[in-house]
Order: sequence, then structure tokens, then C-alpha cells
Amino acid sequence: MEIYLDANATTPVLPQARAAALSVMAEAFGNPSSIHGSGLRARAVLDEARATARRVLGASTGRLLFTSGATEGIQTAVLSALTALRRRRDTGESLPQQLLYGATEHKAVPEALKHWNALLGLHLKVVAIPVGLDGRHDLAWLREQAPQAGLVCTMAANNETGVISDLDGIAEALQGSPALWLVDGVQALGKLALDLDRRPIDYAPFSGHKLYAPKGIGMLYVRDGAPFTPLIAGGGQEGALRSGTENMAGIAALGAVLKALESGEVFASAQRLAERRERLAAALRDAFPGVVFNAPFALSLPTTLNVSVPGLSAKLLLDLFDAAGLRVSGGSACGASRAQPSYVLEAMGLPAWRTAAAVRLSFGGADADTTLDEACRRLRACGESLRASCQIPSADEAPRHAERLTRFVVDGACCYVVADEASRRAVVIDPLPELTERLAQWMRCRGIALAAVLDTHSHGDHASSAPALRAAAKDLLAPEAQGHRVDALGWPLDQDRLALGALRLSRLATPGHTEDATAYLLHEGETLRAAFVGDTVMPGALGRSDFTVSAPLAFGPSLKTLAERVGADVTLLPGHDYDDRFATTLAIESLAQPLLDGVLRGRLSAEAFAAEKAELERDLPPTEYQTMACGARVACARAAERVEMSAAELRTALRGAVAPVLVDVREDYEVRLSPTGELAPESVPLSTLLNALPRWSALPADAPVIFFCRSGNRSAQAAKALRRFGHAQAWSLEGGLALWDAEKISAPADGLAFAI
Ligand code: PLP
Repeated sequence: MEIYLDANATTPVLPQARAAALSVMAEAFGNPSSIHGSGLRARAVLDEARATARRVLGASTGRLLFTSGATEGIQTAVLSALTALRRRRDTGESLPQQLLYGATEHKAVPEALKHWNALLGLHLKVVAIPVGLDGRHDLAWLREQAPQAGLVCTMAANNETGVISDLDGIAEALQGSPALWLVDGVQALGKLALDLDRRPIDYAPFSGHKLYAPKGIGMLYVRDGAPFTPLIAGGGQEGALRSGTENMAGIAALGAVLKALESGEVFASAQRLAERRERLAAALRDAFPGVVFNAPFALSLPTTLNVSVPGLSAKLLLDLFDAAGLRVSGGSACGASRAQPSYVLEAMGLPAWRTAAAVRLSFGGADADTTLDEACRRLRACGESLRASCQIPSADEAPRHAERLTRFVVDGACCYVVADEASRRAVVIDPLPELTERLAQWMRCRGIALAAVLDTHSHGDHASSAPALRAAAKDLLAPEAQGHRVDALGWPLDQDRLALGALRLSRLATPGHTEDATAYLLHEGETLRAAFVGDTVMPGALGRSDFTVSAPLAFGPSLKTLAERVGADVTLLPGHDYDDRFATTLAIESLAQPLLDGVLRGRLSAEAFAAEKAELERDLPPTEYQTMACGARVACARAAERVEMSAAELRTALRGAVAPVLVDVREDYEVRLSPTGELAPESVPLSTLLNALPRWSALPADAPVIFFCRSGNRSAQAAKALRRFGHAQAWSLEGGLALWDAEKISAPADGLAFAI
């Protein structure tokens, strides 16, 4: 069973609302504009819904029209206000110079302001009202700016944080201002008394699907006397305020929800909701020590909790919660490998780690108490799972398994841990500041000593975090590392090799990207297993060499040295991997990169190579991650090849002559929460995929290797990586486990059936 904790995004439809919608579709299906009996019955439903809405909103006067949702209501309000301003300008009146909106407003508001401002040719300044650390508007600022404003937009409650605006304080700050006032009431509907009769609010848009009505229905309140321009003209429905035959199913459903709200029997009281928030907060504190709440409870809707956990990215938390069947939202928009910081939390001035790592849990007033109990139980299970998989500290000190290679990626930058199980020692290569605590925790939990922290070069886009990691892992430093004197890249001054049991690291100078660029060669016995090449060679790119610390003329010769020492087919592990390609070889890159091929085959001299490369790097833009581009990309486009295999195709493959190798690439903490008993796969988390790529690529050519994960995103990365390593029969289960036969995935470790 899934537990839905994303009510601020949308809600399920209340049974009463469903019944009301079905009833108007089956019985009162008439057109409310018709004057016969069928029409009159529909009209009665419409009138009743509007009357109920007026009572709930405290709007006995003013216009109240049904719309398709809040976004339409916002457009209508903005168009109305701005058209009135234009009319005044056209009659020669002098106009206020700006349009104001709260910095944490839903994007629908500033985007509508900019759109209509430009379209109507007003060209007024569109300015954000600053908010404080508590998420509330800066009223002193507003008081000062309001006299120059034509329209002021302030939401009643915020969708990301639940922060409730001080509407009376805003009203007071707007006194004497010529501005019209729009209050986005979407998140407040059913949770706060808006008292529209009492407050000087000119426009208030609402949305049904945030309060248990279906999507596609909303309302707009317009104060008596406030300017109005229809957004949709036509047959004159809704008193010609909004033409088009009414969405009767939606209106009936919304009416039923509002009725339920009035009855006081379906929705929990504010006090009960606050108690539920306390229970969720307690479960979060138990599960994630150090969790911080990004909005003060005293000023927020009790149904919204916005949290960040030190050391845990939003992506990790979302994957974890999803594995536990808890549906929550990133407080910020999460891309595949990068979380865009939340503009709402940024506007509040919260530290960067909190704005990037935020996760939002939101529940609805009609949710059952038992649902909240189950949510709390699963949150605690999530914490247990993280402890058991070494992500957060645990009382259980038994050392855990350590893979030889573990890769961490932050915004396309790669950091590696090379570990040896036998000697329980590890080296970290290219540490990243965001990972300091996680890396220390990774080693502490596994009982691994830190033999060295190395950089492949002095980085252009960040200072090395090696000193911070050494400090955070002070208690974990291997004995010889404690007295080490190291060079600028972390290499022990008195050694030319670093031993980790049977593994050994040695250095190879590869100046070019920077003067100090160094590759680290990893041998097992006499066999060269991999080379950490930093930004010298990346999948689809060569490191840029236009920094002041670059050595462009040395770059070509360094590539030749690298080729001589490692050969064409040894795994190269790059410092950046913007396109999720994991690893590469000189053979693969020579095919994709003519410059590299040219210099390795001797077609290009060091000078010609440097000149052609400089040409490639002219005006090199920052990468999509807004960090400094670390290489001139010559093969940016992700291969468009299809690696997806449907669930039906997987079933066929499972019955095929050659048994497929099934690989679950989810991380350990997810697998613990939702094992996949039926598929009985190998478990190779994406972070340790590098260890297995050579083994799979040595399989017979017709042996399918089928990866799967939660949604199909990570498994597609794994399949593409394996194909690049030469194994064509690499596939990804389309849609991931989410679309695999849900009922067959059950029987998790703790006995609770978390169907996915
Ligand atoms: N305003 C706020 C505060 C919201 O949360 C949303 C929806 O996310 C909207 C406006 C847009 O509402 P609708 O989906 O009805 O267009």
C-alpha cells in the first residue's frame, strides 16, 4: 500500500466528491444554461456549489466564478488588474511604476505578471517582495514600496513550506496604496479562514485538486468594484465573466468537498492536524538525527513539513521514501543528478545545503489517522535502513562489507573510494566538499582506515576538500597517514607507491588540464586494473586547457604517455561524468574524439593539438550544472539508442534459452525496504557498478544483462555504460519496478508488505 504524503501537489478525490461528479454525469447532466428541466437541475447543482463556496470563503458579496484551476484564476485576475492600469494610462493618467509579488509565490504568479505586462505593453517593473528567514513578507519593505505599486500579489500560504502569510499585516501595509491586491488562496483553502468579506482582498484564486476535488476545477473571487476583464469570451456563461459550458462534474465535486468541510465531520480540526504534524516530526527526528525543519511550525500550516537532513541529498531521501512506499516531493526540483535549489528556501535565506536537500511531506485534512501512523512507522523504517547500510551512524559497530571501488557524484563531478577489504584500508580520490561527512561515515561504519586523500589536479571549480576530509576522518587515519607529509595533491612525500593490501596505486604526471594534473594507476598484483585520470580524459571530452594553471603544450604528449602506460583498453575513471557514462577507455574515446585520435596516432603535433583544442575551447560556456566546464565536449549528445525493455519483453527473456542476468542497481538502503524476491537479482548499486562492468562485459555476447531500479532512470545509465564496454545485450527494465507487477514484490525484511 502506498502512503501518499504529497497533498500540496494534489490530493485524491474524496468519495463524496466522486459520487457527486458521477451523479451529474449520470443524472443531472444537463447544460445549466438550458431552461428545460434537465438544465434547471444542473443549474441547481451549480448554484448550490457556489453558495457553499461563498459560505466557506466568507464571501457573501463580490463575484465568485468557476475556473479550470488556480492558474486560470491568476491569469484572469492579473489580466483584469493590468487592463485597468492600461486604461488609466490610455486616458493620460500617471501610473504606479511597479507590480509586486512575494518572492516565494508559486511560479504561476510572477510568470502571469511578466506575460500580461509585456503583452499589454505596460512594461512596468515586476519586483519581488523580500521575505525573512521565517518565510514571511518583509512588511516594512512593502509599506515603503506599496505607494508606487499597481498590483500586489501575496499568497495566503506557501506550497513548499506551508508558511502562512500575515494577511492582516499586509492589508495594513497596503493602506493608502493605489494597488489592487491578489491573494493566491490555493494552499489555504479548507485550512485557513480567509474571511473575504472582512479583508480588502481584490482577487483570490483557488484550486479544487489541492482539496480532494478533481483536477480541472477552480474558483476566482473578485471583490465588488475591482476591475474585471474576462480571459475567455464566448457564450456568456458565468455571467459573461468566464465563457464556456461549465465543468459540471468538477463543480459538483468541489461543491461536495466544500459541503464536507462545512459539516465538520470529514476534515480533522486544526488541533488534530497539529498533533499529527508533531507525530510525523517525532518520527523524522528518530529516523534522521540532525533533521532540520525549514519553516517555523508556529507560522505554518500543520499539514506541511519541509525538511533537510545534513549529509543526505534530496535525491537520496526521495529514493529511500519511495522504496518504503512513501510518496513525498523534493522541496526543490530534482534532476537526474542534480537538485535545483528551491527558490522558496533561497528567498528565505536558508543555507545552500538546506535549499538543495529539502524534501516536503504534506498531508491532507481528510487523511485517516491510521495513514499517519503507518507513515510514521515507515519513516522510522527508513532511518533503520540508512543505519543498516552505513549512511548514518548506527549503534551496531560490526564492520560492513566494502566494495573495491565506490563512486560518488555531485553535479557531474566524481569522487572515488578505493578500498581493500582484507587490509581494511582505503584511499579517497578527488574528494568533494559536499561529501565530507558522508565519506567519513562510509569509512567509519565499515571500519576502514583512511590511507590517503588524493586529488588528480588542483581543481578549477572548487578548492580541494582533502584537508576537510582528513579533519573529519581524523580518528580513521591509517597509522602511517597520521605522520605523513603530503604534497599539494595529497601524495605522501616519501613514497612512490601506496599499498592497499594486494592493491597498489602509483602516479603518472599528465600535465595539460593543469600543470600538476596527475593520473593514479591502480594495480592488483602486476595487473593494471584502472586509471583515475581526473579531467585529462573524460567520456566525450578532454579537460580544458585554457586556465592560467593549464599547460596546453604538454597536453598532447601527456595523452601519448598515458596511452603508452595504460594501453587502449584499460578502464579510465574520469573526474567529471556529465552524461552518466561512468567509465571509458582510450579506445572508446579515440573513436569519439578526433583530437585525441589525432594526437595518439601521431597525426597532430603537440603544437597543432594545442591550437585545435584552443579553438574548441573558445567561449566555452559553463556546463548545464553552472560549474566551470571542465572539458571541451566533442561528443555531448547522449546516445539516442534505446536500452529499455518492457515488462512483457522481460517475461519473454526470462523464459529464453540463455538465462538473463538480472541486476538491481538500487542502493542497499532501498533494497532493504522493498526487496524483489521474485526476480532474485544480483544487487549492484549504481555507486559500485564499476566493479562489475568488466565481469559482465566478459559474458557470452548473447547473454542478456537486464538492469532495473525504481523508475528506470538509473538502470538505463547502467545499461548504457555496459554497452559502451562492448556488451550489446545490456537492457533496462522500462518504467522500473514501479511498473513491474506490483503485487509480486513484497515480503520485505521487517514483514510489512510494501507494495511498490
Ligand atoms: N498557487 C499555488 C500556491 C499552488 O500550490 C498551485 C499548484 O501547485 C497553483 C497556484 C496552481 O494551481 P493549479 O494547478 O490549479 O493551476
